[in-house]
Amino acid sequence: MARDYYGTLGVRQDAGADEIKRAYRKLARELHPDVNPDEAAQTRFREVTAAYEVLSDPQKRKIVDMGGDPLGNGGGGGGRDPFGGGGFGLGDIMDAFFGAAGGPGGGGRGPRSRVQPGSDALLRIQMTLEECFSGISREITVDTAILCDLCRGSGCVAGTSPVTCDTCGGRGEVQSVQRSFLGQVVTARACPTCRGLGETIPEPCTQCAGEGRVRSRRTITVKIPAGVADGMRVRLSGQGEVGPGGGPAGDLYVEVEELAHNTFERDGAHLHCTLRVPMTTAALGASLPLDTLDGVVDLDLDPGTQSDTELVMPGRGLPRLRSTGRVDGRGDLHVHIEVEVPTRLDARQTELLRELATLRGEEEHTLASANGRGGGLFSKFRGRR
Ligand SMILES: [Zn+2]
Ligand SMILES: [Zn+2]
Repeated sequence: MARDYYGTLGVRQDAGADEIKRAYRKLARELHPDVNPDEAAQTRFREVTAAYEVLSDPQKRKIVDMGGDPLGNGGGGGGRDPFGGGGFGLGDIMDAFFGAAGGPGGGGRGPRSRVQPGSDALLRIQMTLEECFSGISREITVDTAILCDLCRGSGCVAGTSPVTCDTCGGRGEVQSVQRSFLGQVVTARACPTCRGLGETIPEPCTQCAGEGRVRSRRTITVKIPAGVADGMRVRLSGQGEVGPGGGPAGDLYVEVEELAHNTFERDGAHLHCTLRVPMTTAALGASLPLDTLDGVVDLDLDPGTQSDTELVMPGRGLPRLRSTGRVDGRGDLHVHIEVEVPTRLDARQTELLRELATLRGEEEHTLASANGRGGGLFSKFRGRR
């Protein structure tokens, strides 16, 4: 018994291609495993996807309308993802998924469908650390295939339609028999006339030459959320390439290329920087104005701060962006203190430092005996940090 593909998508039998696409998108948004990990929802997602695969393909749909089942009568929900493993885009969500453009699944028997899902497109944008911190909205120019508006993807001049290929009789492949010492060898290859489609277009659309799609340059606004990092991708659902025959568009991925920053080094949501302070400041302590991503913030330096001290300013890093697209607090800013010892002293300064040394009992000659004192100036080398 054939499955009820129309019922699965909740559309009437005379529904148009756009209506079927809309119904599928709506269901896919609710049922996509990224959104709804529930077991039942995933089963239903596979069924819905299989139904869409069938009903969006005019030939397979024809089989359904004649009471058949183009996917066979095997166990339910075996439909492959028509978007080639990339999943259905949910728009503006972060995705760790890399590459693997959704190509048409080849290798099947019989004529291949004229309508194929479009592939994904990738675009890179450069962002400064400040932009990664605040998130941006930027206009980008995209050059992809879009649906041919003259034939609406059919590839035919208005009022005409494809006809069965004469060469292969609609099978999409031709067989040739060769005699060899092994006996007869039958080889099948894609029909050269219809390129395996099983049908030809007698009057191709004048705008797209029968492709059902045309190249077009357009400007779209992309929103990149705060907290993104180098290499992260934002998916714009359905903004990729329209497929052959006006097949559903792939997704557009916008990849972030983060530019190096002069002051801050990034470690996930945390930031690191080095702050050089004069010896006297480190000894006396100070409140130092620090130029952070939040503007100028005072950093309190305790009297007697040592070189290599790491001061942490909690919550002064970048927004912590989760894979769900939600922001979960902020990272910290780590300030590494480097104490600068003066190199050029004039006579007066030298005099003052000597006086200080005397007051503190730190004259040069005490250095030699320092080793004798418990826990003196010499101590075991511990390495930096
Ligand atoms: Zn043919
Ligand atoms: Zn056209």
